[in-house]
Amino acid sequence: MTMHDSAPLQMKTSSHSCPVCGYAKLHESPRSSSGGGSFEICPSCGFQFGVSDDDDGISYEEWREDWIDGGMEWTSKGIEQPRAWDAKAALATVIKAAKKRSK
Ligand SMILES: [Zn+2]
Repeated sequence: MTMHDSAPLQMKTSSHSCPVCGYAKLHESPRSSSGGGSFEICPSCGFQFGVSDDDDGISYEEWREDWIDGGMEWTSKGIEQPRAWDAKAALATVIKAAKKRSK
């Protein structure tokens, strides 16, 4: 079995973080500037932008609470959990950002 690497030429310098759990290496912005979801599934918390929110009507906050209740487990089977992944630290950054926004 070979895992195909994503083409390095496609790599962008900007990174996108998950607004639910704080995972910082999403390939696309969860929401485009026009408001559509990316349909990317966060490998950490499993939220799918444009589906979990738009189709299922689940807010980031609700999903986050469920994910925390479930032990903040890495959900992706296809993407390996980064060795340095610290769910609690990532979560702290996202909660901080959310607090700033709601001010
Ligand atoms: Zn996430």
